[in-house]
Amino acid sequence: MHFTCSSCGRSYPLDTRKWRCECGGYFLLAELKPFRPQEIEEQEHSLWRYRAMLPPVRETVTMGEGFTPLVKARRDGASVYLKLEFLAPTGSFKDRGTTVLVSHLKSIGVEEVVEDSSGNAGASLAAYCARAGIKARIYVPAHASPPKRAQIAVYRAELVTVEGPREKAAEAVREAADRGFYYASHYYNPLIIEGMKTVAYELWEQLGRAPDNVVLPVGHGTLLLGIYKGFKEIQEAGLIPSLPRLFGVQSLNCAPLYEAFKKGAEDVGSYVAKPTLAEGISIARPLRAREILAAVRATGGEILAVEEERILRARDDLASMGFYVELTSAVPLAGLSLLNLPEDQLTVIPLTGSGLKACCEEDH
Ligand SMILES: [Zn+2]
Repeated sequence: MHFTCSSCGRSYPLDTRKWRCECGGYFLLAELKPFRPQEIEEQEHSLWRYRAMLPPVRETVTMGEGFTPLVKARRDGASVYLKLEFLAPTGSFKDRGTTVLVSHLKSIGVEEVVEDSSGNAGASLAAYCARAGIKARIYVPAHASPPKRAQIAVYRAELVTVEGPREKAAEAVREAADRGFYYASHYYNPLIIEGMKTVAYELWEQLGRAPDNVVLPVGHGTLLLGIYKGFKEIQEAGLIPSLPRLFGVQSLNCAPLYEAFKKGAEDVGSYVAKPTLAEGISIARPLRAREILAAVRATGGEILAVEEERILRARDDLASMGFYVELTSAVPLAGLSLLNLPEDQLTVIPLTGSGLKACCEEDH
């Protein structure tokens, strides 16, 4: 297994300290292991039950992430299952990617990392670095919710608040990376996507089949790309006849992928975002936009966008079912109401982040 550049194709060893190719292209992972159900470690009740299908690590930094419940929520006659990703150790699905990345970093001897995050990814990295004894410095936009900032601080990560839009935090962290710090990026590093693909493995185990549809929030798209990759591997192993349709949902206030999808474009163009309640997917320039658009189209899915009002209603709708999630996590349910999915189809919505992390100002 090694990295290759998405742009020029150059190869890098898995233990490189670089966060992207010298040409500026981002890394993809090559020489992947096939999905082999006989190698699932049945006694391991975390995503590390799929160790044989994950990048090799000498040390495992884990808090029992993954293996989340799948709960049926019958809606308008359609069969909808909610995957409770917010029950992860730090309250967010990001832990799936972080456990794989930090296990790798610990294994190759990285002692200090930097990262930029609107909140959940930063909190997750701070937690796993605390557990691994790795020093973490997290660059966070000033508008990130106070509970998320507090969570990062309690993990004793160094918190650097960056004024201005989210992109400013990204610029600041790249400057630090250029000074030689390991950039443990939750969207540049493809090991994150390796962790995310275990959602597909779990769904296949829990349902005994692939769902017909997966509806999920999309910003940088690591969860979407992971789920796509996981089901593709299962399909290549001959265990499912076709891939589930993937429906990526954005906020209409920040919908670069939706605009590109509508136009039939292969990549996003320049896009000016407006503020959105769905801060976790407020990404004007998704790095892997080309991959996301291609994956969604390959499954016969769509990119949708929803209004802020609809997101609030969906959050309340989930609360009426007993689930307290952050507003970003309500986006796919808001999107579901735009889709006329056949009643006999099985649809899965991952609930990505806990409402306990939401900002008090978000409550209406
Ligand atoms: Zn390159």
